[in-house]
Amino acid sequence: MRFRIFEDFLSLVFPKTCCLCKRSLFDFENVLCRWCTANLPVANYHLRPQYNDLSVKITGLTKTNLVFAFLRFTKKGESQKLLHQLKYRNRPEIGVELGKIYGQILLQHGFQDWDQITPVPLHPAKQKRRGYNQSEQFAIGLGQSLEIPVRNDLERIHFTETQTKKSRLQRLDNVADVFRTKDGHRLKGKRVLLVDDVMTTGATLSTCANVLWNCEAETVDLAVLAAGKN
Ligand SMILES: [Zn+2]
Repeated sequence: MRFRIFEDFLSLVFPKTCCLCKRSLFDFENVLCRWCTANLPVANYHLRPQYNDLSVKITGLTKTNLVFAFLRFTKKGESQKLLHQLKYRNRPEIGVELGKIYGQILLQHGFQDWDQITPVPLHPAKQKRRGYNQSEQFAIGLGQSLEIPVRNDLERIHFTETQTKKSRLQRLDNVADVFRTKDGHRLKGKRVLLVDDVMTTGATLSTCANVLWNCEAETVDLAVLAAGKN
């Protein structure tokens, strides 16, 4: 809390800066300057949402129609810088802003037929530590542009061990019983856009998608902020 007050004080004294290039922002700019926004490493998966790297990854893990990714994840690149600040530097507004930008792009391409946007949840203890769920922040931004409500219908029950040193099969096992719905009956017949920050193996997203399918959702489409590498 002390840091928040200090940050508020700083933003009064110093103007806001672009989270990538650090240039001072104009009043009409928010979080990112126009130049950095125009030069984001976009994945363009909305141009081929039925067949792309991510849809191939989850084939056989879950059934899904459309898979979207806003950014390409490149190590030490701009998307990694954004994700790092969003996850570890207490910058939830970066998630909201990127969601708003991608929501506009989806809208321009005619994608808006969802009843709700549902983020992949964090474990409550982890969310408490971080103060927010970064995937929910991205979902909020998407929801604002698409004018679709965000509903936190999923919850994470157990802590998962770190995924990075596990094989693909171990990762699937690791998330199998981790997610459940709070209010499953509400999902029946709903067209859901399931949202996460990054997709790497697709294990987490496909497990969450299957929970939604089990609640008889009508459709489950996926959107991630960044498409991971491995
Ligand atoms: Zn910039």
